[in-house]
Amino acid sequence: MWRTCAFICLLLLCSTLTTHHVWAQYESAPESYYLHQKLLNHIQFTEDHPSFLEGKWLFYPQQLLQEPSAVLSAQTVELPASFEDLTGNSNTYGTFIGYFQIPKEFLGKRIAIWIPNQYGAYRVFLNGDGLVRVGTVGADAATHQTENAPRIAYFVPESKYFTLTIQASSFQGLQGGLKNQMKIGVSRVINQQFQRLMMSIAMICGAVLGIGVFTLMFSAFSQAQGGKIKHIFILGLFIVFLALHNLFSAPYAYTIFLNLSWSWGLRLEYLFSFFAILFFLSYMFLLSTHYLNRWIYSAAMLLLSFNIGVTVWAEPSIFQQLAFYSAFFFIVVLANFAYGFYQTIRLGESYSAINFWAVIILCATFIHDFLLVLNLVDSIHLSFISTSVYALLIMFQQARNYAYHNLHIERLNQKLINLNSSLDSKVQERTQQLSNLNEKLEMQVKIDALTGAYNRRALNEEIQRLYVETLQAKRHILVFAMLDVDYFKKYNDHYGHLKGDQILQNLVKVLHATLPKSAYVARYGGEEFAILLHDIPQHVIGQLMQNVLQAVRDARFEHVAREDHKQHVTLSIGVAWMTREYSYSHVDDLMKTADVHLYQAKHAGRDQVVVQS
Ligand code: GH3
Ligand code: MG
Ligand code: MG
Repeated sequence: MWRTCAFICLLLLCSTLTTHHVWAQYESAPESYYLHQKLLNHIQFTEDHPSFLEGKWLFYPQQLLQEPSAVLSAQTVELPASFEDLTGNSNTYGTFIGYFQIPKEFLGKRIAIWIPNQYGAYRVFLNGDGLVRVGTVGADAATHQTENAPRIAYFVPESKYFTLTIQASSFQGLQGGLKNQMKIGVSRVINQQFQRLMMSIAMICGAVLGIGVFTLMFSAFSQAQGGKIKHIFILGLFIVFLALHNLFSAPYAYTIFLNLSWSWGLRLEYLFSFFAILFFLSYMFLLSTHYLNRWIYSAAMLLLSFNIGVTVWAEPSIFQQLAFYSAFFFIVVLANFAYGFYQTIRLGESYSAINFWAVIILCATFIHDFLLVLNLVDSIHLSFISTSVYALLIMFQQARNYAYHNLHIERLNQKLINLNSSLDSKVQERTQQLSNLNEKLEMQVKIDALTGAYNRRALNEEIQRLYVETLQAKRHILVFAMLDVDYFKKYNDHYGHLKGDQILQNLVKVLHATLPKSAYVARYGGEEFAILLHDIPQHVIGQLMQNVLQAVRDARFEHVAREDHKQHVTLSIGVAWMTREYSYSHVDDLMKTADVHLYQAKHAGRDQVVVQS
């Protein structure tokens, strides 16, 4: 009896062990078990390289299970796959169960599974225990709640075998299921890759946003100064919405730092896209009506406004449907663009090559992403990359235009400055030349052409000036001497006029050499000269004039034709002087006195000086 009891107890114990440690059981003989089932997926990742979580999964449609079922039938499927692909219906739910084997060296290490956004809700179990959940999984639209965000799930494997169970549901969107590829690897590397992706998205969005804000400010400042660059402002708005669109579209970087509900996140994604498209079309329309016909543009604006209104008020599935069908209108817009470019090229109008390529890229990725939604191509969303490239291309063009424009203006300015300064220096040069010429002319007016002494006119001015100054006691004395060449008529008669001219010239040289520097020597007329002195003591006048006579004698200019016995040219001098105390009432009187004294000198035998006593 006790044996029977013990056997039953042992059996019970075994059965408890087997039910409660169903996973532990795999440790001993799982490979054969799974291999037999052909369902064990070998995942090969290394310390530095994660792997895709690929392989065969059991799929239980319209079942929410935690463990494989013995009674329910399952399909064998491969992930990633959408519900649409698996069941022909995107609004459904189901359970995926996958068996995996990882390399032994990762036992006890922290492993991460990167699950990108999945357009629905899901719950992941590891060996039957809850690991991560996104949204609320439900069997109908009422209980289901979508959430669209990337997640990383961590676990520390105790065995190299594990089972992943994923319950997924989708009732609120166009797309559903596990459409996006999952990754598994060492948590450090997965974290790093995830952070790198988020960082680059943040950086690109930041850069594009910066470009947009710069463009907006640039146009605002230009407009404030009266510039007409409305299209630049529109371009700025477009770029700003492009950046926001990128932040709110796949892979949904905004979920990292914003606690927005999924439906509002999706709304913003669509709204930002609509605004970006709206401003882009407006920009193209403003650029040239070639690119967008007025009617097509108006229709597009109406359609976009309608979409924006519906997106704000309606449920996601409704505005998503509307956006999907509205996208067909883009074919018309594209055709118009193509026709516009054809016209531009045909008419030989100038166009920006960068803008051309940027629009091509934008349109190509739009078509690509649309085909992706239609499940006609198997690829990833390209709009994030293309819109960023577009913004960079536009910025490149703007920066280049701005730099060239600035440089052009700077060069023009420099040219103007150079021209001005060369004009300035030319004017300066000419003014200098003119003033030199004037000075020369003034001197010429004052100078006697034959002898280089001052002429009668200059003498008159100078004597008048000195006369006044002497009366004002600025000069202590004014001496006026009249000089006349003796028997000069005879000289001319004998030697000829040319020789006579030379004598007059040489006499002036002798006068300059003999008299002090301040002496003013002028030709009074014919062979008569005048000397003005103002800075000598009165008592040296006689001696100074004697020196002049002697210097002329010493020069020994031959004159054999004179009436007396002398053989050389001589002078006769008559001198008058005045001070403030002893003055003449008129300057002419001073000159007359000198003339009188000259007359006296002539009559006293010539070659002598008569000074006023
Ligand atoms: P004196 O004064 O000693 O009484 O005799 P003079 O022969 O010098 O007398 P007068 O004043 O009558 O003659 C002046 C002469 O000077 C007349 C003219 O031939 C000469 N003469 C006047 N001007 C010039 C001139 O520019 N060149 C030359 N070569 N001779 C001149
Ligand atoms: Mg004379
Ligand atoms: Mg004479």
